[in-house]
Amino acid sequence: MSTLSNLKNVSARDRQMIQQAEAMLGPEPSEMGFVKNLFWGRFRNDIIFPYPRESREERAKCDALLAKLETYLKHEHPSALIDQEEYIPEWAIERLFDLGVMGMTVPEQYGGLSLSVTSYNRVLEMIGRYCGSTAVVVSAHQSIGCKAIMLFGTEAQKRRFLPKVAREYLSAFCLSEPTVGSDAAGQQTRCQLSDDGQYYILNGEKKWATSGAMAGMFTVMAKQTITDPETGETREGITALICTPDMEGIDIFQNNRSKTGIRGTWQARLRFTDVKVPLENRLHKEGRGLNVALTCLNFGRCTLSAGVTGAAKYAMNQGIKWVQTRYQFGRPLADFELVQQKIARMAAYTYAMDALLYMMTGMLDRGDTDIMVETAICKVFCSRYGWQVIDDTMQMMGGEGYMTENEFERTWRDNRIHRIVEGSNEVMQSFIFAYGGKQLAEQMVTIQQALLWDADQPVERNLTRLLRHATNLPLMKRALPLVAELYLGILPAGPVLRGMHPALQDHADRLAKLVQKHAHYFKMVGKWEREKIVTRQVQQGRLADNAILLFALASALSKMDAQLRAGEHGVAFERDRAAFEHLFDLFEQDMLRNMGEMRHHTDAGMQRAAAAARRHNDTLPNGDYIIHEASPVAQGLGKPPLTESIKQFPGDRYLQAAPAESSSGDGATLGNGQSKVTAKKITKKAPAKK
Ligand SMILES: Cc1cc2nc3c(=O)[nH]c(=O)nc-3n(C[C@H](O)[C@H](O)[C@H](O)COP(=O)(O)OP(=O)(O)OC[C@H]3O[C@@H](n4cnc5c(N)ncnc54)[C@H](O)[C@@H]3O)c2cc1C
Repeated sequence: MSTLSNLKNVSARDRQMIQQAEAMLGPEPSEMGFVKNLFWGRFRNDIIFPYPRESREERAKCDALLAKLETYLKHEHPSALIDQEEYIPEWAIERLFDLGVMGMTVPEQYGGLSLSVTSYNRVLEMIGRYCGSTAVVVSAHQSIGCKAIMLFGTEAQKRRFLPKVAREYLSAFCLSEPTVGSDAAGQQTRCQLSDDGQYYILNGEKKWATSGAMAGMFTVMAKQTITDPETGETREGITALICTPDMEGIDIFQNNRSKTGIRGTWQARLRFTDVKVPLENRLHKEGRGLNVALTCLNFGRCTLSAGVTGAAKYAMNQGIKWVQTRYQFGRPLADFELVQQKIARMAAYTYAMDALLYMMTGMLDRGDTDIMVETAICKVFCSRYGWQVIDDTMQMMGGEGYMTENEFERTWRDNRIHRIVEGSNEVMQSFIFAYGGKQLAEQMVTIQQALLWDADQPVERNLTRLLRHATNLPLMKRALPLVAELYLGILPAGPVLRGMHPALQDHADRLAKLVQKHAHYFKMVGKWEREKIVTRQVQQGRLADNAILLFALASALSKMDAQLRAGEHGVAFERDRAAFEHLFDLFEQDMLRNMGEMRHHTDAGMQRAAAAARRHNDTLPNGDYIIHEASPVAQGLGKPPLTESIKQFPGDRYLQAAPAESSSGDGATLGNGQSKVTAKKITKKAPAKK
C-alpha cells in the first residue's frame, strides 16, 4: 500500500479508489515529467525549450498530404449532409483511406504513411476545421481503435491487422459499458483462459464503441482473474483482446443512436457471449489492459485536442469576420468593447491551444515517458478553451449563428462532446491534481506521519516516535524547509528561467514566480485540508487548473520564443504576439484568483446548497426524469427514453422499438434491419468531382 492509500481518516471506499487508481497507472516512470516538476516548484527548461519542431522532410511530407486533403475537404466532403443524415457515406470513408489518412500513423512496412504524432495531429486539426464527425471517426480509428496493435502488438498481430486498418477497414475501441463510464476500472465484461490455454472465453456487454458497427476489428478490455503461477494467489486485472466481428458470439445489437453533434459518427452496443478469442489475439500481458487503454488514450487526448483546435481556429476567424462586417448602431459590432474582449480572448486561447497541442505532440514524438498528466492537461485545456472560443463566436454572430444554413451551429454542436469523452474534464482535473502532485504529497505525508503530534496516540508513543525521527538526518533535511514554509511562510527559492529571447525575459520572470506560488499553494492546501483533501475536489480542481494554466503558459512562452528567434513578422505574427501577451495577463489573473480562493472560499455554502438541492430532488418523482439504465438505486424507474419521432438506426434491437426502415434520411432508409450494418449498406454515391 502506498503512503497515500494509508492515510488516516480516509474512508474505506476512498482508500479503495486510491489503490485502484495506483494499480491502474502502474509504477511511476523513472523520471518526473514537466508538470510533476511544477508541483515541486521546478521548471524543466530542457523539456520545454526549444519549441519542438518536426524535421524538414517530415513537414514536407505532411504538407503534401494536407494540400490534397484540404482540396478534398473543401470541395467534396459532404460535411453538412453527414450531419443532416447522421452518417458518413462509405465513399467518403474510402476517399480518406485512398488519401492515406486512415493509415497515416501506421508504419510504412505495414501499408501506412509512418507519419509522426505531430503530423497526425496537424491532419486532425485540418479535419476538425471542416467536419467534427470525420475528425472523431479518424481519431477513434487510429488513436484508440487500432493504436494498441501499433504500440503493444506482436509482429504477427501487426502483419495480420495493420495493413487492413491502414487501407481497408475501420477499427473500434471497446472500453465503456452500461455500468462503466468514467470509472474505467469497474469493467464487468470478463475473460477467462480456456482449460487447454488456447483461447480466452469472453462474456459481457460494451457500449458506445465509435464505428463499432462498421469495424473490421475491435480492441476490447475485459476483467480477468489472474493466478500467480508461483504462489497460486489470484488477483483481478484487465486484459486487452483483439476481436473481429466474424467471431461467433459477438452480437452488435445497436448500431447507433441519434445525438447532439458529431452526428455522422456511429456508436455501437455489442454483446459478447462465450466468444472464443485465440490466445494470439491478446495485447500486451494479462492484466495490463488498462495500461494499454490509458496509453492509447494519450494519443486520443491529443487528436481530440487537435480536432477542437481546428474548429476553434475556424470559429475565431468566422466570428471576427462577422463582427467586422455586421453593422449595428451605425458601426461594425467589432467597434464595441465587449465584443473586442471576446476577440482578444479568442486570439489568446487559440494561440495557447496551438502552443500546448504541438508541445505535447513534440513530447510524444520525442518519446518522453512521463506524459500522462500532460496529455490530460492538453485534453482539458483544448476542450475547455476551444469550447469557450466556439461559444463566443455563436454569441457574436447573434441569431444568424443559430441558423443551420450558416453552418456554424454544426461546429458548435460538434464540439461540445469533447469535455465529456476520453476522460471527462472533472475526472481529469482530479487526476491532474492527484497524479501531478503525488510524489510531493507522499513526501509531505511521510514527514507528517513521522514528526507531527498525533492526538489519537498516547503521549509516550508520540514522544518515542518524535525522538526516533529527530535523529534521522535525511528526513530532517527534507522536513525543516517544509516546516519553515508551512509555518513561517519562508518560501524556497523559485525557479530561474534564462536563455530565451531577451524580449521575453519579463514574461519568463512572471512565469517563474507563478511556478513558485503554485508549489507553495499545493503544500498550503495540504496543510489546511489535511486528509480531507482526498475528497475536496473543488480544492483539487483549483490546484489542477493552475497546473493546466502553467503548462499552457510555458508552452506559449516556448512557442513565442521560437517565433521571435525565427524573425517572424507581419500581421499574423503581430496578432500572435499581442495574443501571447494578453494570454499571460489573463492566466496570471486567473491563477492568482484561484490561489486566493484556495484560502478564502465559499465551499461550505456550496456544500450546504448542494445538499439541500439534493434533498429537494429526492421529493421529485423518478418517473418524470431520465435515470441511468444501470442505476443501482432506481434502475427502470425513470422516464423511458423517447423513440417515436427520434431517428432510429437499422439493426437496432436494443429498444425493440426501432423500425427496420425509417423515413428520415437515407442513412436509415438504406438499412435492412439486420443486426450488422456494414459501411456498404449505407453507401451513397460520390458527387461528381469539381
Ligand atoms: C459520442 C460518444 C462516443 C464515444 N466513443 C467511445 C468509444 O469509442 N469507446 C468507448 O469505450 N467509449 C466511448 N464513449 C464513452 C465515453 O468515453 C463516456 O461517455 C465517458 O467516459 C463518460 O462516461 P459516462 O458518459 O458514463 O459519464 P459518467 O461516468 O456517468 O459521468 C457523468 C459526469 O459526471 C461527472 N463525474 C463522473 N465521475 C466523476 C468524478 N469522479 N468526480 C467528479 N465528477 C465526476 C463528470 O462531469 C461526468 O461528465 C463515447 C461516448 C460518446 C457520447
